[in-house]
Amino acid sequence: MGAAEPDANRRCRLCGQRFESAPALPNSADRRVTCRICGEYDIDNRAWHYFAEIQTDPSDRHLLSALTRTAPVRGVGRVLTSPDSFVALREGRVREPNFAERRDALLDWFAFESRKDPKSSAYGRMIQFDPQRDYPVAHCRPLEPNWSEWKFIIDPLFDRQLLAHGTGGGRPMQGPVWITDKGWEQLEMRPRASGSVGFVAMKFKEMDPVYEAIAAGSSLRGTPSIRASGESVQRPNRPRHSTSTIHVQAVQTAHRTS
Ligand SMILES: [Zn+2]
Repeated sequence: MGAAEPDANRRCRLCGQRFESAPALPNSADRRVTCRICGEYDIDNRAWHYFAEIQTDPSDRHLLSALTRTAPVRGVGRVLTSPDSFVALREGRVREPNFAERRDALLDWFAFESRKDPKSSAYGRMIQFDPQRDYPVAHCRPLEPNWSEWKFIIDPLFDRQLLAHGTGGGRPMQGPVWITDKGWEQLEMRPRASGSVGFVAMKFKEMDPVYEAIAAGSSLRGTPSIRASGESVQRPNRPRHSTSTIHVQAVQTAHRTS
């Protein structure tokens, strides 16, 4: 531990930055990573070791950062990152959302942040943010050295007067900002997300081919599939558990009806 630990062990496998914590889960070789950039996600032991170096392929890990970071915004469970996640990325099976989806995802995140305190109204709430840490919420790449992608996504929210700069001396690129009446109107009138998550609950043993078939089908439609763990479910590869154990796998997509 501490100083004896190799540097790679203290870095997030998705963004390459120092994580806040990554304790092993009880009775498991998996870890629960808390990262200021990627949020909270679980990672299995194989992925932890195989993909320790951020410089190694796959290089577009920001797509996985986006899936882990936006899980609470999308209302899905904590994402379990496994070697399958990296292989899917390498094979181009993790779809990058289009511009409109990313712009909506960013507005959704500001709404999520606005609603965080149930004791006060979300309307008019000032939100601080840091693009260098919050870039995954818009499915962006890391901002250094080039901020143009982030600006391209966020600027239209100001141009369309869905977001407005607040006062308070913050730097323009960091807020504070607030969602305007027009922004809330769009958020609340917009058709609800449709088919964003399909949950598949199944016995953990010998059912992987079924899941793979479902995931492959969704991939053909251009939707990424990521296995997500939940608080009350157990995951596969735990042969000592009874066959009544189920796991839940989420097939996720950024598609919305519009
Ligand atoms: Zn990270």
